[in-house]
Amino acid sequence: MNKRGHVLNAVFLAVGLGFILEPAGDAATFRTVAAVFVPLVLGALFPDVDTHFGKHRKTLHNLFVLGIVAAYPVYFSNLHWVWLGVLSHYVLDVLGTTRGIALFYPLWDEEFGAPVGVPVSSDFSDAMMLAVTAFELTVAAGLVYVLPNYLPDLSGSLPV
Ligand SMILES: [Zn+2]
Repeated sequence: MNKRGHVLNAVFLAVGLGFILEPAGDAATFRTVAAVFVPLVLGALFPDVDTHFGKHRKTLHNLFVLGIVAAYPVYFSNLHWVWLGVLSHYVLDVLGTTRGIALFYPLWDEEFGAPVGVPVSSDFSDAMMLAVTAFELTVAAGLVYVLPNYLPDLSGSLPV
């Protein structure tokens, strides 16, 4: 997916997540959208830094990088929600494009993808991005409403 696709994915995800976490559509909803919006966009942009530094779809497209970014809220109490932008970037690359990502780099160079993607330059890449975003929001809603016990404590990362 190109930069435009990743940014739009993060924007739609932020708005959708705001309504999933605070469904009333009131000020709390919009505060939640605001709280996750910039972190999600930043996280969604981060992995493709490896187009210039390192090997693209390897250096910053793996589970170790995701783990490091996800550890920041736990150990430093900052970068809340950036990990979700990074994760969403991975999901969009894996499901939305024909080329996979090297999930276990640097231990293993193999790129893992799914057979449903379209070429990055395809006319269908926007439709694919929307489909992947809908899938992600469905999973998020499922976690929030059906399996809330599996969610980490979000209280420190969202406005009260
Ligand atoms: Zn990427």
